[in-house]
Amino acid sequence: MKKGILVVISGPSGVGKGTVLKLLRERNDNIVYSVSVTTRAKRPGETDGKDYYFKDFDQFKNMMHNNEFLETAEVYGDYYGTPKKQVLDMLDAGKDVILEIDTVGAVNVKKQYPEALLIFILPPSIDELYNRLVGRGTESQEQLSLRLNSADAELKSIKNYGYVVKNEVAEETAEIIDNIIRSAHYTVGRNAKLIKQFVGE
Ligand code: 5GP
Repeated sequence: MKKGILVVISGPSGVGKGTVLKLLRERNDNIVYSVSVTTRAKRPGETDGKDYYFKDFDQFKNMMHNNEFLETAEVYGDYYGTPKKQVLDMLDAGKDVILEIDTVGAVNVKKQYPEALLIFILPPSIDELYNRLVGRGTESQEQLSLRLNSADAELKSIKNYGYVVKNEVAEETAEIIDNIIRSAHYTVGRNAKLIKQFVGE
């Protein structure tokens, strides 16, 4: 069984990651999502264990001490982390694992796991990003300005990513990302065993 591919997807808050990732899951049944741990409050409609594992700060700190995270980051004043075992087990099972994480976490994942594919989703424009974020109405005024201010710094970190996709039509964005992930299975680096059958050592 060949190991799956670790895919990191980032983009500013309000860019439409949720919709794109839902469509991606419908297109490709080898994709699984890692559920992150967070100390932020649960939003209406979110389920513990499905959207996030919601923990308090002490629980989060304990997990950090026990080396249970692949990466952690402080985002908009709360802590977020990717559970390591869950991700490595799914990769070993041949699944392509998607991490929807911030730009700091993405760099940390790349350091620990250089084969990871880093994909950045851009909004159609900054104005559109603002409209979407205000329009969804899930954040307090304070959270809203925090997220809008961070968008700038996040955009500056695109240089750390391998791919960038502008999200105009969610279906098209999902198709492009699906193609990127499927193509990654055919790199020479991932097919050493196959190549060996033809050219030996
Ligand atoms: P939200 O609170 O809107 O669900 O997510 C806020 C930000 O935290 C998003 O940019 C999201 O990508 C990021 N995030 C979610 N989970 C993780 C994680 O496990 N690690 C890191 N570094 N960022 C995360």
